[in-house]
Amino acid sequence: MQKILIVEDEEKIARFVELELKHEGYAIDKAADGRTGLSLAEKGGYDLILLDIMLPGINGIEILRRIRKDSDVPVILLTARDAVMDKVMGLDMGADDYITKPFAIEELLARIRVILRKKQTAQTTQPVLHCLGLTLDASRFKVTYNGIPVELTAKEFSLLQSLMQNKNIVMSRDTLLETVWGYEYAGETNVVDVYIRYLRQKIDEKFNTKIITTVRGVGYVIKEE
Ligand code: CA
Repeated sequence: MQKILIVEDEEKIARFVELELKHEGYAIDKAADGRTGLSLAEKGGYDLILLDIMLPGINGIEILRRIRKDSDVPVILLTARDAVMDKVMGLDMGADDYITKPFAIEELLARIRVILRKKQTAQTTQPVLHCLGLTLDASRFKVTYNGIPVELTAKEFSLLQSLMQNKNIVMSRDTLLETVWGYEYAGETNVVDVYIRYLRQKIDEKFNTKIITTVRGVGYVIKEE
C-alpha cells in the first residue's frame, strides 16, 4: 500500500483529505505542526508528502529544504491563493508540484496519481550513471566524484542526471528546461544557466576539473570520448 504523509494544521482540510485518500486506498499519516511533520518526513518511508506552507513551528518551505538534503520523496505543496513567492520558492527548493487552496479533491487526487506513476517509472528505469569520474545513482539520490560525495539539491541533481543520461549529446536550454523543470518555468530559460553555474561550483570548481562544457549559442554537454 502506498503511504502518504499529510502535514497540515487546518484540522478540517487535513481530515477531509485524509478520508478521501484512505478511500482511494492510500495509507495516511498526519502531522498538524511543522516539527512533527519534519520528524515524520525525516523518518521516511513515504511515497509522497502533502505539505502545507504556513504551519506552526517550522514552515513548509523550511521543511522541504531539510527533506531535500537527503531525499527525493515527491512533495506537493498546499499553498494559499496569493502566495506566488511561496510557490516559486517551493519549486526552487525541489517541490514536485503545488496546489492552491481551496482545491477540488479530484484535482489533488489526479496530481498525486501522476506523480506516483512518474516515480514508479523512474524507479524501474534508472541505472547508475558513470562519466568522467562522476557517478550518479538516481534511486539512492547520490552523486560522487571519484568516490567523494557531492551534495546537490533536487533540481541540480536532475539537471546533472539529464546531462549524464545524454552524454556526448548537446542539450539545448529549452530541452533541459523541459526535462528538468517541466511546465513550471515557461519562458525563463536563464534558470538553466543559473543551475549550471551551481553545478560547476559544486563539481568543476571544487574538484578542479571540467565536466560540463558550454556550447555557445546552443546549450550544454558532458563530453566523454
Ligand atoms: Ca496552514
